[in-house]
Amino acid sequence: MINIKGLSKFYGNFQVLKGCTTHINKGEVVVVCGPSGSGKSTLIKCINALEPFDSGEIHVDGVSVGAKGTDLPLLRRQVGMVFQQFELFPHMTVMDNLVIPQTQVLKRPKAAAHERGQRLLERVGLGAQASKFPGQLSGGQQQRVAIARALAMEPKAMLFDEPTSALDPEMVAEVLAVMTELAQEGMTMFCVTHEMGFARKVADRVLFMDAGEIIEDAPAAQFFDAPQTPRAQGFLQQILAH
Ligand code: ADP
Ligand code: MG
Repeated sequence: MINIKGLSKFYGNFQVLKGCTTHINKGEVVVVCGPSGSGKSTLIKCINALEPFDSGEIHVDGVSVGAKGTDLPLLRRQVGMVFQQFELFPHMTVMDNLVIPQTQVLKRPKAAAHERGQRLLERVGLGAQASKFPGQLSGGQQQRVAIARALAMEPKAMLFDEPTSALDPEMVAEVLAVMTELAQEGMTMFCVTHEMGFARKVADRVLFMDAGEIIEDAPAAQFFDAPQTPRAQGFLQQILAH
């Protein structure tokens, strides 16, 4: 579904990605972890062309992201993205946040968009919150709305960039529960997260990034039980210690 080959990117003279190669098969859940500044967000943003890259290739469902002439708006609506900050429209109700992208971008009739919106809100446990504004919801609820909004576009894959990092601890579980359900339903997912319990339970593979390189790419059980590099070993010790 997503194929990344020899991906490199510079910010000025600083090389943020150094020949990253990996793939995500249809229905697979891949977790990306690694120290702050290692390039995780940049990698994930390259996949739906929110960041350009300098060399290498990315294909999403066979379509080359970097090629001239690629329909980037089409690509972006096929690849849902959920950020650390929920980025809902604050002046619109929860339902409008879900309906407007469907009617404006997909040209879906309003009634159908509304119906789909309600179904997705129910699926993330927020069926009763449709008429509220984002600011009236908790962080965990807002993030679940953001996931529902991404799903409303019927994406082929979902990208998550630290979706629980801005949440109070008691809200992390409710968001991870939604993500786990999504994974179990067969969604193709690429998740930057340091929630190692989620990674161990749900991920098919774990990538470990350090200084712009993917230095481990292993089945989850193997990554946790026998990380290959001292860097990943140290990272895991640190993160699992608290
Ligand atoms: P991570 O998500 O792993 O914390 P990022 O991909 O956000 O890492 O950033 C990787 C590196 O690139 C960091 O050193 C960061 O300071 C740098 N960086 C990120 N965005 C920019 C930018 N727009 N311009 C210059 N440097 C950037
Ligand atoms: Mg980041």
